[in-house]
Amino acid sequence: MPEYARALVWFRRDLRDFDHAALYHALKQAGQVVCAFAFDREILDVLAGPADRRVEFIHASVAELQQALQTRGGGLVVKYGIARAEIVQLAADLKVDAVFFNHDDDPAALARDAAVEAALRTRNIAVHHTKDTVIFEREEVLTAAGTPYSVFTPYKHAWLKTLSPFYLRAYPVDAYADRLAAQSTSIPALRDMGFEPTNLRELKLPVGMAGGARLFDDFLDRIDRYQEARDFPAQNGPSYLSVHLRFGTVSIRQLAAAAWQHGGRGAQTWLSELIWRDFYHQILWHRPDVASGHTFKPQYDALPWPNPPGHFAAWCEARTGYPLVDAAMRQLSLTGTMHNRLRMVTASFLAKDLLVDWRLGEKYFADRLTDFDLAANNGGWQWAASVGCDGQPWFRIFNPVTQSERFDAQGQFIRRYLPELSAVPDKFIHAPWTLPDSEQTRIGVIIGQTYPAPIIEHAAQRERALALFKTAAATDSG
Ligand code: FAD
Repeated sequence: MPEYARALVWFRRDLRDFDHAALYHALKQAGQVVCAFAFDREILDVLAGPADRRVEFIHASVAELQQALQTRGGGLVVKYGIARAEIVQLAADLKVDAVFFNHDDDPAALARDAAVEAALRTRNIAVHHTKDTVIFEREEVLTAAGTPYSVFTPYKHAWLKTLSPFYLRAYPVDAYADRLAAQSTSIPALRDMGFEPTNLRELKLPVGMAGGARLFDDFLDRIDRYQEARDFPAQNGPSYLSVHLRFGTVSIRQLAAAAWQHGGRGAQTWLSELIWRDFYHQILWHRPDVASGHTFKPQYDALPWPNPPGHFAAWCEARTGYPLVDAAMRQLSLTGTMHNRLRMVTASFLAKDLLVDWRLGEKYFADRLTDFDLAANNGGWQWAASVGCDGQPWFRIFNPVTQSERFDAQGQFIRRYLPELSAVPDKFIHAPWTLPDSEQTRIGVIIGQTYPAPIIEHAAQRERALALFKTAAATDSG
């Protein structure tokens, strides 16, 4: 006999109907299970503008989820409002005995969930929440002293030591699918929620569970080459699954299990990236203050970033005069994504070449990345600015020209996003200001007119960045 007559599953960043922890637990414990999703105005109303690829991605994925649940004989109730109120009201209206959901450890989500839990409990509705988004969460991987890891490599070793097939097992939703309640509502149109369609459909970013599965199948054919190809933005190297991991249209267990079983250098390196994801999620859990602008290493919290006027705007608008940086920033604004190598290069450039507070860059990425994930974005920015846990050492400063020569040698990526430089010969594509004037005239690329002159000189800025860090770093124990 199930423990509850009726339960509600609240979907959030887990938009799939398979291998889903909360759905499985609800189906196992309740005779009838209603599924729900809420477009949360607390999140939507503060987004930067009406064209937001994430909202469109979620919208399409929710529609697919509803259809998938209906095919199983169930349904999906979709609300638009303040989620914390909508879910409590829905649970009361449906007279459910329990509400199930998966953990979301973003500080704002934790506060919302605590409020929902408290409100449900006052109505005598049970609440069950569980891990789903990562392989190991919260306190599951700690040092021998019982403290959280702040350096990746030992964390990774401990993570791998803790791993067993048990943690990768899928939650078998199929076994109890006949308990799904056939309850659905219509899905509000994007426009009714104040949003406009974006160019999401034109991008090669398939949505929903079907899209995630397609990308993963494609990647499995290339996984052995991941190690060699992943750093070159013009190559089809990485998996492009981050947005699917963000919204749970793929299962992290399925991905990690496939990589683990596949073995070999490529798959192991890729598994390491998934471990980085867990690493930053547990950092956020243990240090939620990083989400409100604090540096992981307190000695860097008040670094006096010079923030020279105009530099941040030039970076955002792809006008720095450094082609690799500008191409990457254009990729971000045109597509809502950026290659990992370029996230490192552009973040480092903002902080250490332009001497702009990394928090401005973090926010800029957060507003635009379709795969924006607070833990990974904050972790990446703190890493690049050398203020975080296990960051790039402060005295190691990427040279934007060398990075360009190494990772986009023929300038293929640069030319894809900066067609105004397409006539520049390979030899000059990384530093076009070195083109002789006669050559500029001949090919019609005039530095300072058709493409900006470099906004700063790297060697000089490097010295300034080192000076900025030096005093604070004296107290850095690593
Ligand atoms: P793959 O190379 O195929 O990697 C597989 C998965 O591993 C990714 O989808 C992602 O979930 C995870 N992963 C890979 N690298 C990292 C990493 N360094 N940290 C945490 N997880 C990782 N990733 C996000 O998902 N959201 C962000 O908002 C985000 N912001 C970033 C900001 C900066 C400044 C930097 C340096 C990195 C950021 N990353 C972020 C990490 C990384 O750039 C992206 O995960 C990756 O580019 C996504 O492409 P992919 O799915 O093809 O990755």
